[in-house]
Amino acid sequence: MRKRLRTTDPTRTTPLAKQSDHPCFSCSQCCTYIATQIDEPTTMRDYDHVSWYLHHQGISVYIDWEGAWYLQIETRCEHLTPHGLCGIYDQRPAICKDFDWRDCERQQTPDEDPPEKFLFRTSDEFFTWLQKRRPRTYARYRDFLGRKHAEHNDEELARVERAS
Ligand code: SF4
Ligand code: SF4
Repeated sequence: MRKRLRTTDPTRTTPLAKQSDHPCFSCSQCCTYIATQIDEPTTMRDYDHVSWYLHHQGISVYIDWEGAWYLQIETRCEHLTPHGLCGIYDQRPAICKDFDWRDCERQQTPDEDPPEKFLFRTSDEFFTWLQKRRPRTYARYRDFLGRKHAEHNDEELARVERAS
């Protein structure tokens, strides 16, 4: 599991004149999702599962710049206060403590790469990518799905015939 990072200059610092100048002030975006690594899909079932994830609200899948696949789930941390602060600051998990705000996607400048190489927010976006990047796999998946739907229809027909 991880917070979404991007490659940044670790020496970069931002001088602050006052607290409200801090980029985290009234933001808290990084406390409103979790992201966990998933296996790269290889089988038709795997591709189908990615499609299934993406049919759900608040779910996205992304591939980072090292080629690792992640499932991201929009969900607000229950310790986030109404004022956008951490309610368990002294006891927060290590992943929260280790996260450097200078690495967050909100600090991105227009000339920098986004945190993910490919981001899919919907099943359509995923299959558009698959068709372009892995056209043979896409064609195999369409066949796989067609067969599954045909199987289902046959079962349904048989059930209707038995019932009549
Ligand atoms: S680290 Fe980034 S996303 Fe998190 S509160 Fe600060 S500016 Fe917002
Ligand atoms: S524990 Fe605190 S820092 Fe970590 S996600 Fe929740 S509110 Fe944010």
